[in-house]
Amino acid sequence: MKFEIPDGARRILQTLNNAGYETYLVGGCVRDLLRGVEPHDWDICTSALPEETEQCFVGQRVIETGLKHGTVTVLVEGEPYEITTYRTEGPYSDSRRPDFVRFVPNLEEDLARRDFTMNAIAMDLEGNLRDPFGGADDIKAELIRCVGEPDQRFQEDGLRVMRALRFAAVFGYKIEKQTAQAVHENRAMLNRVAAERINAELCKLLVGQSAGDVLRQYPDVFCQFWPQLGPLVMLEQNNPWHCWGGWEHTIHALEAAPADVTLRLTMLLHDIGKPACKSTDEQGIDHFYGHPAVSARLADKMLRALKFDNKTRERVVLLVERHDVQLPPRSQVIRRWLNRLGSEAFFQLLEVKRVDNMGQAPEKVRDRLAELDMIRAKAERILAERQCLTLKDLAVNGRDVIAAGIEPGPEVGRVLEKLLERVLSEDIPNERKILLKLVNYTVTDQ
Ligand code: ATP
Ligand code: MG
Repeated sequence: MKFEIPDGARRILQTLNNAGYETYLVGGCVRDLLRGVEPHDWDICTSALPEETEQCFVGQRVIETGLKHGTVTVLVEGEPYEITTYRTEGPYSDSRRPDFVRFVPNLEEDLARRDFTMNAIAMDLEGNLRDPFGGADDIKAELIRCVGEPDQRFQEDGLRVMRALRFAAVFGYKIEKQTAQAVHENRAMLNRVAAERINAELCKLLVGQSAGDVLRQYPDVFCQFWPQLGPLVMLEQNNPWHCWGGWEHTIHALEAAPADVTLRLTMLLHDIGKPACKSTDEQGIDHFYGHPAVSARLADKMLRALKFDNKTRERVVLLVERHDVQLPPRSQVIRRWLNRLGSEAFFQLLEVKRVDNMGQAPEKVRDRLAELDMIRAKAERILAERQCLTLKDLAVNGRDVIAAGIEPGPEVGRVLEKLLERVLSEDIPNERKILLKLVNYTVTDQ
């Protein structure tokens, strides 16, 4: 095995084994060990009832939060380990947890409640597997397969539809044929799943290496929770810039984007308003005038519906809204945008524009991509040279302006803004003496 079982997990297994309880590593960690990937947590299952587990760890830090569901968390050297009694579970009506659980005496029954064969493998400390559903073989074959009857499993908990797609996107595995068919057929089960649970899976999915393929193969699933995607999936665009339809363009752009939730969401939604803005001219060329603003409005709604946090939502909406702005590679313009957006959002916007171009006809975009590189280089220089970008950087402040003779009040801010404007556009240098001289000659709009 490429990765060692940590001492903490080892000790817990040994303690419970010594007390006479069957205990195994289970779920994600076993799957990841078999895939040759370092597990990020170490879940443990045991025949011991929760109280019995607690008895084994008297004097150690034990957290009881999951007790009702059979989970005891033990802290070993600051690391939390979840120890869960063998159990089956009732349906997940809506919440994050099953409605009820029932403890069961044997491991196989516990493994049978798990979603996919690769997640239903248990391992002891010697590395021996208990793998009644052939999960290890499916991992070798890179297949995602339901434990048991796929239809039934997706009907018990609709979130599994998203989990199947998430694992496919993150691992690059295929979904086995019957399971894949059941994913399509049971997608409406997602209507019963809490938005937060869909959100969490979607975020992991979108940054997966195969997110594009999953979007290609399962657009119907995404439309289930975001019906606004439907018209984009069907959108044809007859336009010399575009060699693909709306959905394929979106996917190409998303695939070219770094594995970052904000950027991937932005690319998924950047053209969502195109279908509503489509017009066709006399030559038969399609246009999408005003689509960034419409896309931004729709994106805002969609992200709210899926309960995204404000920070992510606001940034995605901003980037969607601006994705098509003209950005000539001139320092004056770049400073203005750095001032308006801040450097983080500005560089994200450059990235959005770069990958948006990657989703268009390649022979058409070479010059634009070169221009974006130039803008990036200039922006980096502007920042490295700590050039004046905001009121904070201006060589004069409000007190200076008042001392120079401007009445205290809103006019002070307006004068400062005007001076900043002129510095940004290189009309005047950011030098105190010069700015002070200009204070009284600065005409504001008021
Ligand atoms: P990750 O690497 O993202 O943590 P994971 O498989 O460990 O993946 P968890 O959500 O941590 O996912 O769940 C732990 C285990 O619990 C899974 O491996 C699986 O056996 C089981 N499980 C989780 N969610 C479900 C579900 N919705 N239905 C059935 N079994 C589930
Ligand atoms: Mg896990």
